[in-house]
Amino acid sequence: MVAMPVADAYRKLSLWHDTVPGNLEPGDPLPGDLDVDVAIAGAGYTGLWTAYYLSVADPGLAIAVCERDIAGFGASGRNGGWCSALFPASLGKLARMSDAGAATAMYRAMQATVDEVGRVTAAEGIDCHWAKGGTVQLARSPSQLERARQEVAEARSFGFGEEDLRLLSADEARAFAGACGVVGGVYTPHCAAIHPARLARGLADVVLRRGVSLFERTPVLSLGPGRLVTGTGTVRARYVIRATEGYTPVLPGEHRTLAPVYSLMIATPPLPEETWAQIGLTGRPTFSDLRHLIIYGQRTADGRLAFGGRGAPYHLGSAVRPSYDRVPAVFAALRHTLADLFPVLGDVEMTNGWGGPIGVPRDWCASAGLDRSTGLGWAGGYVGDGVATTNLAGRTLADLITGADSEITRLPWVGHHSPRWEPEPLRWLGVNAGLQVMSWADRQEARTGRPSRAAQVVGRLLGS
Ligand SMILES: Cc1cc2nc3c(=O)[nH]c(=O)nc-3n(C[C@H](O)[C@H](O)[C@H](O)COP(=O)(O)OP(=O)(O)OC[C@H]3O[C@@H](n4cnc5c(N)ncnc54)[C@H](O)[C@@H]3O)c2cc1C
Repeated sequence: MVAMPVADAYRKLSLWHDTVPGNLEPGDPLPGDLDVDVAIAGAGYTGLWTAYYLSVADPGLAIAVCERDIAGFGASGRNGGWCSALFPASLGKLARMSDAGAATAMYRAMQATVDEVGRVTAAEGIDCHWAKGGTVQLARSPSQLERARQEVAEARSFGFGEEDLRLLSADEARAFAGACGVVGGVYTPHCAAIHPARLARGLADVVLRRGVSLFERTPVLSLGPGRLVTGTGTVRARYVIRATEGYTPVLPGEHRTLAPVYSLMIATPPLPEETWAQIGLTGRPTFSDLRHLIIYGQRTADGRLAFGGRGAPYHLGSAVRPSYDRVPAVFAALRHTLADLFPVLGDVEMTNGWGGPIGVPRDWCASAGLDRSTGLGWAGGYVGDGVATTNLAGRTLADLITGADSEITRLPWVGHHSPRWEPEPLRWLGVNAGLQVMSWADRQEARTGRPSRAAQVVGRLLGS
């Protein structure tokens, strides 16, 4: 049998890898030992944004990024393309962790981050199909509508106004997305739809042009103070940054830091204008509904509908394998949900199905930080909200490393340490039971129209 060229194998990772311009041939691996100022493990958005802002802040810094596959191989190349102001911890939770002012500052910083991604991609000539059309969350049952009201009420109590988030009537929501069974919704303008791999690969090109060393096909075996060890050499550096998100558990000492939970996606072929006339999404707002087991979608620049959701199983021992990216039962469930939302798509064959791991911390609160005494830094635990948050992480790590006294280094997620996950098999039982209950609660709510207590209890137990 003839082995597939490696660049062709990377093309098959997702719709986005399949349609990203340029060559997916890996760059050179680390050729041997190296001394730099900053060494970064992982060339997803976190690693690349960190390298980018460091190179802007101090062009004299020597920066090396070591990537096991190619830049944008992980979630950064495969996601739903919501560059949004969503942060995995709610305002209420952040206020409990610190105070109301800090919670508000975090959410305001996220809003500004969406625009920062738009600014930099425009300035650097990264054509990531940017369309800042906001997000519409559809309410499709009385209990979903109740959650919409609660979400808006919480935002108001922290000083966020109509311009940030507003409740929609059924007609207003349907004007955004012509879905079935809509009884209302919520709209926020703070989100842009993007082509994720165009952003990841474009960023990699930009950091290379700025003099950052990017070593691909270079797995990091371990990292510690002053060194990052790979199979082909050791990178010695004053600062060493972990940017490996869902793949973190394989690193020594990090087994219980983040749980890799899979999110899967499907996509239609480019759809005719008559179909879009029924679906809407004019201006490319991203969309979801307010069920417990998250779903998300976007109208792509080339007229497809890309749609995803959680529900794939968590694997014992935090295992991450290519075969877990594709689960036929989850693709079928997504297909069913999409047709339920938009019956006009009932007979449309999907062209792509893919997935990838997101990193879930035990308390569902992302964090970024730097230990000054050891020089070790990290950012991650974005759950499914990393597209914009990684940019804030990159700027924050750059400021912490260069010692810049900036507002963003005082945000409540900076230096936050999430508790470690339980040992197995408790972690497996807890995460999978949680996924099952969320899915069951959605079915119950659809049947009874009443909010599910079980989903709230499990959410609290899991810390979400
Ligand atoms: C299907 C899916 C849909 C999503 N949708 C959205 C969305 O719409 N909006 C949103 O905000 N977020 C979304 N997310 C989450 C978002 O994509 C991630 O939070 C974000 O991309 C994380 O970026 P990262 O750079 O931290 O991690 P990754 O992109 O996963 O990058 C980590 C990199 O590290 C490399 N690596 C791992 N281990 C090693 C090692 N030992 N040595 C060297 N390199 C290593 C990997 O190969 C990878 O390239 C989604 C995720 C998935 C999977």
